[in-house]
Amino acid sequence: MSRYTKEDIIRRVREDDIEFIRMQFTDIFGQLKNVAITASQIEKAVNNEIMIDGSSIEGFVRINESDQYLHPDLDTFALLPWRPQSGKVARLICDVYNPDGTPFAGDPRGVLKRALARAAKQGYAFNVGPEMEFFLFQTDEAGRPTTRTGDEAGYFDLGPLDRGESTRREICLALEQMGFEIEASHHEVAAGQHEIDFKYTDALTAADNIMTFKLAVKTLAQKNGLHATFMPKPVFGINGSGMHTNMSLFKDGKNAFADPQDGRGLSRDAYAFIAGLLSHVRGMAAVTNPLVNSYKRLVPGYEAPCYLAWSASNRSALIRIPAARGQATRVELRCPDPSCNPYLNMAVCLAAGLDGIEKGMTPPAEITENIFSMSAADREARGIQSLPGTLRDAVECLRADDGICAALGEHVLSQYVEGKLKEWDAYRTHVSRWEIDRYLVLY
Ligand code: GLU
Ligand code: MG
Repeated sequence: MSRYTKEDIIRRVREDDIEFIRMQFTDIFGQLKNVAITASQIEKAVNNEIMIDGSSIEGFVRINESDQYLHPDLDTFALLPWRPQSGKVARLICDVYNPDGTPFAGDPRGVLKRALARAAKQGYAFNVGPEMEFFLFQTDEAGRPTTRTGDEAGYFDLGPLDRGESTRREICLALEQMGFEIEASHHEVAAGQHEIDFKYTDALTAADNIMTFKLAVKTLAQKNGLHATFMPKPVFGINGSGMHTNMSLFKDGKNAFADPQDGRGLSRDAYAFIAGLLSHVRGMAAVTNPLVNSYKRLVPGYEAPCYLAWSASNRSALIRIPAARGQATRVELRCPDPSCNPYLNMAVCLAAGLDGIEKGMTPPAEITENIFSMSAADREARGIQSLPGTLRDAVECLRADDGICAALGEHVLSQYVEGKLKEWDAYRTHVSRWEIDRYLVLY
């Protein structure tokens, strides 16, 4: 059931001193895009008549078939609290459609909707709660971002004079005004690193929320003279930023992962979902960890996962089952990072888990020891595989995984692979500082 009708939106715009409406959507590489319309165009907008030129959007369409239409999801109507309060700015998150009225295959939100429809056919609703980590860095005299933090705080620390703390507070308050339920916010392990967690919702809302979250964090950081980044590993030698993805399936309003009869309180669906994730996670990595830089986070020693294992307790495992049971029973996948496209991330996670359920998969034995302290031989003896080590490997794994390719659909897959291989090539051929320092004198 929709919360708002077209008439509600038109009335709000007229009565609430709203001057601009931003029609937002996301490209396949996870960049938020928008076209701003003035209040006079709101009727056109709610009637799906706002047109964009898709050929200018990366990964969208060719120049000869470029007209596309934005269909706003009326329930996403919200004011942007950081914009002027007289002559306000609202936003609507949109689906992208072809001129013939069919959903555009390259719209990531559409990819997630397709995955959710597959789950719904089997009676499942998919809920997601992300844990968003990010860095706040100082800017230089010209306002350009640096990787300096001016902060020496660590996990859960507080500091009355820390600008990070007041920026975090502003972010939380702004998001609450936009309807988020913020569950926790804290300083993370690394200097300058923060985490804000918001309550789980249906996956589509969660993905929309992640896009809104990133915009709010970046905007409010900038207002405070800081630079916020969701880059997975901005500083060598300290923790990177993850986007641990907590997932559950609900059936008839009940958590389908919970089973009080089981020793761990987990249902067969939960075990099969875990098994599905483990069997596809290498193929998913190019989506969950989309940047060259993502693979610099996925190394031992920084609380980020590298090995394919699951555990009900152990944070060194890729998949963890947090302690909560009953309606809060969930599976936490720890590899995704916040640079991923959240719509595609959730679509591939769901596709992998459902595949596990559809095929009745069982996961390997739980690993309760610290995997980081096992030798390579130990891991091999126990059949513990690794995540791909580079973006290039990840793209190969994606191409080899038919289930994940199908979940993305042909259009997104081909555009995505092409874009990622270009990115890899640009990196591969670049001569870095590390190489100069290492080789210039020695050879
Ligand atoms: N920052 C760590 C990561 O890269 C996670 C820390 C935590 O357990 O919250 O995934
Ligand atoms: Mg964390």
